[in-house]
Amino acid sequence: MRRTLIAGNWKMNGSFAANRSLLSEIKAGLPASLQCDVLVCAPAPYFAQCAEVLGGTVVSWGAQDVSVHAHGAYTGEISASMLQDCACKYAIVGHSERRAYHAETNELVAHKAQQLLKHGVLPVVCVGETLEQRESGQTNAVVAAQLNAVLDVLDSLDGLVIAYEPVWAIGTGKTATPEMAQEVHHFLRQQVAARDAGAAETVQILYGGSMKPENAKELLAMPDIDGGLIGGAALKSQDFLAIIAAS
Ligand code: PGA
Repeated sequence: MRRTLIAGNWKMNGSFAANRSLLSEIKAGLPASLQCDVLVCAPAPYFAQCAEVLGGTVVSWGAQDVSVHAHGAYTGEISASMLQDCACKYAIVGHSERRAYHAETNELVAHKAQQLLKHGVLPVVCVGETLEQRESGQTNAVVAAQLNAVLDVLDSLDGLVIAYEPVWAIGTGKTATPEMAQEVHHFLRQQVAARDAGAAETVQILYGGSMKPENAKELLAMPDIDGGLIGGAALKSQDFLAIIAAS
């Protein structure tokens, strides 16, 4: 059985004051018999605050990106070993906003995932098609190319997490139907199975894109949806907790 992972992607939001309230409310509101793993991916300046507020709890914290380089003269970059130093358990790579605004390629994303695993940080690799790509029937080809670039460079798939985030559903209020999402999740799992049948059984594939309390239960009930990567709704403790409760 795969464990469900409910991950918040705060994006470029937050402040010490706002985070303190949000994290304290999440901590206080978790069910006593929590059945899933919970993660918040915060902006880097707040990792220490996450450690202070969440240290010793079941809630993990993580990053939203990482440098492809190990160390050195790369002004502004944050390395995988620094994330490890900050006790980040996971880091998102290849989010569609980074692919779109920072011209990240499939190969760059793959090497970022590789850097993370080298340093014991679990990569949450995002894949997903634009509306235009979906409408022209390219969904499978796009997500396969994004995922296979990663599978090509990893020696072991242990610890890999995949997030299917249709670009047209991110921050738009439009969610893929559970059936639409399930179809792509199943396809992604088959791509993993073609490399490593055992890893395909254990790899967690999260859905992201306007997941909210109203649709989380149905999405999470699908056999190949193992959790959620949640943007907007992760900034409100009530909504985030409601999604955790639905899992
Ligand atoms: P959203 O964002 O939940 O606000 O659509 C999800 C994401 O971008 O990871």
